[in-house]
Amino acid sequence: MNFPTSPPPLADVQRVLCAFAHPDDIDFGAAGTVARWVDDGLEVAYLLVTRGDAGGFDDTPRDRMPAIREAEQRAAAAAVGVKQVEFLDGYGDGTLTPSLPLRRDLTAAIRRLRPDRILTNSPLRRWERIAGPSHPDHLAVGEAVTCAVYPDARNRFAFPELALEQGLEPWTVREIWYTGGPTPDHAVDITGTYERKLAALRAHVSQTAHLEDLDGLLRQRHRPAAMAAGLPDGHLAEAFSIISTA
Ligand SMILES: [Zn+2]
Repeated sequence: MNFPTSPPPLADVQRVLCAFAHPDDIDFGAAGTVARWVDDGLEVAYLLVTRGDAGGFDDTPRDRMPAIREAEQRAAAAAVGVKQVEFLDGYGDGTLTPSLPLRRDLTAAIRRLRPDRILTNSPLRRWERIAGPSHPDHLAVGEAVTCAVYPDARNRFAFPELALEQGLEPWTVREIWYTGGPTPDHAVDITGTYERKLAALRAHVSQTAHLEDLDGLLRQRHRPAAMAAGLPDGHLAEAFSIISTA
């Protein structure tokens, strides 16, 4: 199962919500693109489902990890110019499923923030590489976000208490961008924002400080994506799958 061919992105987007499982998902997958959106004047908000309490590569006490990773994500957001960073409560790293409570929380966020576009983890697994993008939390968030976009957020009768008790009126998100999926076919040239992406990833100290050559690792990933998209030699790109959800 793959995504269909991406349509051209919407030209009139004003607000973007980036909804991901863990701190650093946005930055590995899309920080260069997010920086471009910020430069273009789009309002970008981050919503993290967990605080990444099962991540890290050292003996940092586990009970300290959520606060550490929340602070790292806020610093990473600042590196690309994103000011609004929110975290859901009650979801543990490594335990996510596309559950009704998660769909409800995502629906509430969508109705409150009213994004035209959502960027999220891919709900489709890459079978050729089981680690990284195909972490079960990523697949779960990609699926839950997709369910929240359709039908939940736009349907008054889904989670009716959101409208009745919190005044959160239905909202239709018109476009989803997925990162980490099997066949990304929409490339964004991040050559001009790459240094900010690198700074954002370096802000995730608990996740990247142990990597000897983060810069080289990233270039190895983003150069082929640029070449595949026909960009000039030496350019860097992030690639996505886009679906229209209007
Ligand atoms: Zn992750």
